[in-house]
Parts: sequence; structure tokens; C-alpha cells
Amino acid sequence: MNKKNELHKIVIVGGGAGGLELATRLGKTFGRRKQAIITLVDKNRTHIWKPKLHEIASGSMDFGDHEVDYMAHAHWNHFTFRIGELSGLDREHKNIALAPYVDTDGVAVTPVQQISYDTLVICIGSLSNDFGTHGVKEYALRLENQHDAKQFHSKMVNACIRAHNQAEAISKRQLHVAIIGAGATGVELAAELHRTTREVVAFGLDRIDPDKDIKVSLIEAADRILPALPPQLSKATEELIESLGVQVLTRSKVMEVLPTGVKLADGRMIESELVVWAAGVKAADVLKDMGGLETNRINQLVVEDTLQTTRDKAIFALGDCAACPYIHDGLAGLVPPRAQAAHQQATHLYLQIKRRFANKPLQPYRYRDFGSLVSLGKFSTVGNMMGGLIGKNLMIEGYFAKLMYLSLYKLHELAIHGFLKTSLYTLARMITKQTNPTVKLH
Ligand SMILES: Cc1cc2nc3c(=O)[nH]c(=O)nc-3n(C[C@H](O)[C@H](O)[C@H](O)COP(=O)(O)OP(=O)(O)OC[C@H]3O[C@@H](n4cnc5c(N)ncnc54)[C@H](O)[C@@H]3O)c2cc1C
Repeated sequence: MNKKNELHKIVIVGGGAGGLELATRLGKTFGRRKQAIITLVDKNRTHIWKPKLHEIASGSMDFGDHEVDYMAHAHWNHFTFRIGELSGLDREHKNIALAPYVDTDGVAVTPVQQISYDTLVICIGSLSNDFGTHGVKEYALRLENQHDAKQFHSKMVNACIRAHNQAEAISKRQLHVAIIGAGATGVELAAELHRTTREVVAFGLDRIDPDKDIKVSLIEAADRILPALPPQLSKATEELIESLGVQVLTRSKVMEVLPTGVKLADGRMIESELVVWAAGVKAADVLKDMGGLETNRINQLVVEDTLQTTRDKAIFALGDCAACPYIHDGLAGLVPPRAQAAHQQATHLYLQIKRRFANKPLQPYRYRDFGSLVSLGKFSTVGNMMGGLIGKNLMIEGYFAKLMYLSLYKLHELAIHGFLKTSLYTLARMITKQTNPTVKLH
């Protein structure tokens, strides 16, 4: 056996908010020093930070300026990248199976692959949960990945061009976007759409009257928007987005999505051209009972506070796909599916893997909730800051909140690119902003 085969093999499945940070840090240390073989697996070729998806969907952000190519990034950071979708786990032989990667013409690029590991980290994120609602799969768009976001954007621009060019009058249903779920994703998308649709129209589509023809409805089953956040934050946000003309429908349960719009449980019909499902998340079905690991009712892998799965100490899980214990206000709960949690867990796990290599015991992970921020595009950013930073829960708004919101993404960029590259990327974007339209048109 050669020396390379004797090295400890760390396999990370999912190069998202948590996984890419972890692979990069492990690559820069253990990979660079040739102390371990680090492999990152993802079903996509490029990475985009998921909280940016609503900006890609609405056209306020150019995807190409922010995507990270896994192969190049892996090469520069001393780890290996393998493309493929996790499809199975053999714990006895310590290997994972990847389904063939197929191109857009349906031609296989990679065959079924088996990758062996000594330590496995699963961080494949979450998908939207339609709770079995009729018509969601067929007629609603989602914002789960870059393809969904680009698809929504293209449909939105096409809808505007179509409306401008048609001979007949614009119908009530046309240019109406119904967003189901008024969590952070739904609210942020509604606010961004208000601005970007107006900007698209301003580029010569003058048969459309933005105030009359473009409509955005936000549909929420709970009695307020942003139900997971403090009530004062919901109130301030609702006032702001209503002042922009967004129709807010709370206590409105969706019964069915139809080709013509959304049918509510009380019989109302919200006629709309585009429907976005942004209500609830669950982990992918592939995790359910995978390799006999323990999962909960939304397919998350149940982990201990060390982030180790309950039935296999060599397998860790983090981010949205992990059900990690969190004691809050004396009550037992789970760490929420947020980018800040994935970021913290990636940092924690990196330090624990270092401890493992030094034969030290693992330390528990404690989630630190620094609050939540909701970006309302150029109009405002609102949020609350909690605990660690200021000692109590405080509502923040405006430029300060916007700065805090941007800093979340900067933390992610710093973790994967380092200071110099992050500064150069930021500068490059500032320069191209001066020559590109303020909204993406293709
Ligand atoms: C539109 C939107 C806005 C959001 N806004 C915020 C926000 O403002 N603040 C906040 O804290 N959180 C926000 N979130 C939530 C946040 O994005 C997630 O909590 C975070 O990305 C989770 O990180 P993760 O590493 O667990 O998974 P992800 O970042 O989702 O990454 C998962 C990775 O796994 C890959 N993958 C998936 N399945 C497989 C498979 N079977 N095989 C191989 N690879 C696979 C995916 O391609 C992806 O690269 C938002 C989410 C969305 C969708």
C-alpha cells in the first residue's frame, strides 16, 4: 500500500454554506500538509451562497459575479472535487455511492461512483416542503438552487416582454406573482421584485404601467408575516412592503396551485402568472433511513451535540440537513436551518477534526443566535440582534441592519476566499456595477 492510500480520507458531501467552508479550511491545513485526503462532493459544478437566490431570481444580482467553480476552488485549496449526487451509503465498507452525473442532453458524464471514507460529513442542505399540497410540483416555482432562481428570472423577464408586445390588453392574471410563504425568503423576494420588475419595464417596455399592471401577492397561513421572528419585526416589515404595493394575505392557507393561480382554503382564487412556493423546508428523501442512520420526520439526520450522527461516530452532519439539539430559554429544540448556523457548525467541525487528529476528545457545539436579518432590497433591511452581541434582543433597521446583513455574506466569502481575494472580488463587482444595467435582463 502506498503512502497516499494510508492517509485519512475525509469526504464532505454538499458544498454549500457549510460544506464549502469546511472543505476549504481542511484543504488549506491537512490537504496542503498532505496529512489527509479531503474530497468534496456536490451535485452541481458551481457554488452559490443560497441566501443570494432571491436576488438572482429577481434579477438584482448577476449569478456569474458570485458563483464559485468547485474544480478550480478545490485545486487552489488542496482538496479534490467530485461531481455527483449522493444516492447511497454503505457503513460497513465505509463508502458512499453517487448517481451518474448527466448533462442537459441526458448524456452521462460520470458513471455510478463509489467513494470510500474514514470520516464522512453530510451537509446537503434542504429542499422546500410542499406538505403534499396539490399542484405545487406541476405549477409552482421554487428557490432551491441556482437553476430555479435563473428559471424564475427568465420567466419573469419573458412575461414582461410578452405583455409589452401583445396586441390585446394586459389581463388581470398577467404580471401577477403570487409568493406562498411569508418567511424571510418570501418577504425578501417580494421586496426585490417590486424594484426589479419596474427597472425591467423602464428599459423600453413602455406599454406596461408598473403601478397598475405589476402585482405581487404574499400569501401566509399564519396570522402574521415572518412568523418565526419577533412580532414587532413582522409589523414593521409588513407596513414597509404594503407601502410598496405588495398585497399581504395572512391567515390564508393554500389549498391548491392551479395553472391559473392559487386557490385558498376559504375558496378565494388568487389569479397569477407566476407562483413561487417558499413555505417550509425538509431534508432530501435520500437521507431517510440511509445506511440505517437515524432521521426525523423531515428527513434530517439526527446528530448529537458533537455533530456526530447518533448511530455512527465516523459520520457527521451539519447545516440544514442536521437535526442538532439546541436548548433555548430552557426549552429543548433544534438549531434552525440558517446560513449562520451552517457557518458556525463548519467552523466548529473544522476545530473538532483537528482535535480528533490530535487524539483529543470532541467538544459540544452550542448554537449562538445572533439574530435574524431580512433584506428588503434597496428599501431597507430589518432585523433583530440577539444574545452574544448586545446582551438582549434588539430590533435594528436601515443602514446598520444592511451592513450586518452584508457582513453575513462577507464572512462566508472570507472563509472560502481569504481576505485578499474577497477584497479583489468586491472591488471587481463595484467596477462592473458602473457599466452594467442595475437589473439583469437576460
Ligand atoms: C432564497 C433563500 C434565502 C435565504 N436567506 C437566508 C438568510 O437571509 N439568512 C440565513 O441565515 N439563511 C438564509 N437562508 C437559509 C440558508 O441558505 C441555509 O440555511 C444554508 O444555506 C444551509 O447551508 P447548508 O450548508 O446546510 O446547505 P446549502 O447551502 O443548501 O448547501 C447544500 C449543498 O449540497 C448540495 N447537494 C444537495 N443535495 C445533494 C446530493 N444528494 N448530493 C450531492 N450534493 C448535494 C447542493 O448542491 C448544495 O451545494 C435562505 C435560503 C434560501 C433558499
